[in-house]
Amino acid sequence: MTKSTQPIPRIALIAHDKKKDDMIKLAGEYRDFLQTCILSATGTTGGRLVNELGLTVERMHSGPVGGDLQIGAQLVNGQIDCVIFLRDPMTPQPHEPDINALVRACDVHNIACATNVSTAHLVLSQLRGAYHAAIGK
Ligand code: PGA
Repeated sequence: MTKSTQPIPRIALIAHDKKKDDMIKLAGEYRDFLQTCILSATGTTGGRLVNELGLTVERMHSGPVGGDLQIGAQLVNGQIDCVIFLRDPMTPQPHEPDINALVRACDVHNIACATNVSTAHLVLSQLRGAYHAAIGK
């Protein structure tokens, strides 16, 4: 089968502190697929993805000091296909306006944004299936 020109998925990964273990577990389950993707993440989330799963990740600043906004800027520039944003709905965040701005940017630009693990599974399994189909795997 000829190799497809299907672009490599570009995925942003962000998890609030109480959701970081969930993110590591989730990313671990999709590790083989994520290794084939272009990944960006906020600082601390990205550090864990690199150190614990060996993924290659472009790390932004930490969320509370502007990392969410940096991801948002990438998204607005057309550099992100999907956002996995495991938010903590039970803990107030100092950067709530930045979080809202990122989710709003996803809606403005019609970019899939999974804010919980169940939705993240749906999105990642769909992306993985589409990618494997495109490359004939
Ligand atoms: P962090 O940022 O990955 O640097 O912790 C996430 C966030 O709180 O938005």
